[in-house]
Amino acid sequence: MLRLAIQKSGRLSDDSLNLIRECGISFVNSSLKLKTESTNFPLEILFLRDDDIPGYVADGVADIGIVGENVLVEEGKQELVVERLGFSKCRLSLAVPKGTDYTSLQDLQGKSIATSYPNLLQAYLQEQGVEAHIHTISGSVEIAPSIGLADAICDIVSSGSTLISNGLREVERIFKSEAVLISNSNLSEEKKEILAKLMFRVHAVQRAQKAKYILLNAPNDRIDEISRLLPGAKSPSILPLAEEGWSSLHSVVNEDDFWEIIEKLKGAGAQGILVVPIEKMII
Ligand code: ATP
Ligand code: ZN
Repeated sequence: MLRLAIQKSGRLSDDSLNLIRECGISFVNSSLKLKTESTNFPLEILFLRDDDIPGYVADGVADIGIVGENVLVEEGKQELVVERLGFSKCRLSLAVPKGTDYTSLQDLQGKSIATSYPNLLQAYLQEQGVEAHIHTISGSVEIAPSIGLADAICDIVSSGSTLISNGLREVERIFKSEAVLISNSNLSEEKKEILAKLMFRVHAVQRAQKAKYILLNAPNDRIDEISRLLPGAKSPSILPLAEEGWSSLHSVVNEDDFWEIIEKLKGAGAQGILVVPIEKMII
């Protein structure tokens, strides 16, 4: 049995649970329970505050966990990372009140900065040769300047709308974060095997998220040209259509470049192009 710690409720919770479900792992989830066991995979899930997850995994209370890199690096435990998960993307940024003159980080020399990430901030300031007073507070950091607690803040930003609605301007991005899967470094052989099985599934899900299945019709004399445009897993599958002289081509394309490929495919004579999601992808 492998023990996984995830955030009980917050910005990591839904995507963490979805990832486990997409891996085909079923469990009963009651919002009141702090612990649940999968019904079809040797996995136990603990629901915790995100800040506690790195410590619990480092101590072996949980074997693995899902947490934001910002929290992990703040706690100095980045060596626990097994895999980046690509969700809960955000950044740690410095922001100042809208009306403040700010041209470079030097402007914060001797000023006070409120944050929940004193270690990350301190490391950044030190690297940049700036000395400032760091005010560590655990929440509602964005109101610190308006109540006179600090001249600037250093906080998590994703769209930036929270900063704007608090009259703040983002001036430096100091750390980029996403959710990561972490593991205790002393897992038993049995637990390592379960983790390897889990990672096999995670990789299949991740690969599928980036890939699209593409189907199109093409005149037979264009098949070569169109096949060269399709960077599929191997080569495209080609099936004859009932209509004489036409075939159907099937392949897999990466979401990042499918728009560009689709233009080229149309240019090469492809018709009836369908792009459909892939649920799992094993290579
Ligand atoms: P807890 O009660 O578990 O301590 P919390 O309030 O500290 O929760 P959340 O706000 O739920 O934490 O954020 C959890 C993590 O999600 C953050 O550490 C960060 O990695 C990520 N995150 C935070 N804000 C955003 C955002 N706006 N967009 C995307 N990811 C975010
Ligand atoms: Zn937290």
